Amino acid sequence: MNIRCPFCGRRDVEEFQFRTLVPEPDAEAFARLYERVNRSDDSLEYWQHVSGCRAWLVIRRNPTTAEIHEVHVLGEAQ
Ligand SMILES: [Zn+2]
Repeated sequence: MNIRCPFCGRRDVEEFQFRTLVPEPDAEAFARLYERVNRSDDSLEYWQHVSGCRAWLVIRRNPTTAEIHEVHVLGEAQ
């Protein structure tokens, strides 16, 4: 799997570190903590390019197929 870092270009996933899922803005806090299920469809995740520019990225990908659909820099408009 490769991730296209907005600063460094396409890099091997080994250069990145998965941090956590991005919480869904309309979900209740209780549901996020206690009712979360592992979904097979797209998920929104925080990753960090730890072996490159160290940028924090927001990545939308399918955890089942490992297909990456979007990569954005954390804090930039999506
Ligand atoms: Zn980078």
